[in-house]
Amino acid sequence: MKIILLGAPGVGKGTQAAFLSKKAGLPQISTGDIFRYNLKNETPLGKLAKGYMDKGLLVPDEVTINIVQDRLMQEDCKYGFILDGFPRTLSQSESLDKVLNEMGSALDCAINFDVADQVIMNRLAGRRVCPNCGKTFHIVYEPPREQGICDTCRIPLTQREDDREETVIKRLHSYHEQTEPLIEHYQRRNLLVNVDAAKPIDAVSAEIEMIIDKIRLSNKEKYSIHKPFDLTAG
Ligand code: AMP
Repeated sequence: MKIILLGAPGVGKGTQAAFLSKKAGLPQISTGDIFRYNLKNETPLGKLAKGYMDKGLLVPDEVTINIVQDRLMQEDCKYGFILDGFPRTLSQSESLDKVLNEMGSALDCAINFDVADQVIMNRLAGRRVCPNCGKTFHIVYEPPREQGICDTCRIPLTQREDDREETVIKRLHSYHEQTEPLIEHYQRRNLLVNVDAAKPIDAVSAEIEMIIDKIRLSNKEKYSIHKPFDLTAG
């Protein structure tokens, strides 16, 4: 199954993509994670991306599109994938269609995570991350056992550079300007499903499971109905 997750930064796409990836045995492809990995390892791509990420801007389309195209060509994407944070512009969405066309395939659905800007602001400004294992916490909603310290690695948590308030405002601006038009784009193609992502994590996961199950059941010839969460058909 080929799924994209749409929504502003901080709506919980990453959390739900990881849940779905584990449950369905499909690779989670997060462009944000790819950029952060490169940034951490100080690769040329990481250095280029940093300039945009720190300012709350999108990395240019030609860079991002090439990375995703290469990733989708890998063997593990043959039977499906969960794209988290891509596409974020109309041009990215067109390039995705082109790659899928070449693969003789098409998207199954676009799940849109709907949350008010103020909620996002609170979530991102309070987010903290372990620089070692990458686990994320929230100072109010998911605090670590000891204030400011990772539960597992026992080292101080940090704040992502782009989670600072002034950067979050810019990221939200980029979202409304460049990514929000994709909602209508996928709606017109009958691929859009909205999820109320202001709900607790488990409730959102349950809603997504129901959505996926519905698609699976309406494509019985493609997906095994005997294995409830086998979504790895082409
Ligand atoms: P995220 O963790 O998905 O919010 O991504 C963090 C940052 O990586 C974004 O603010 C952008 O600077 C960059 N980024 C991630 N995905 C994309 C994309 N599809 N297109 C352009 N830039 C992206």
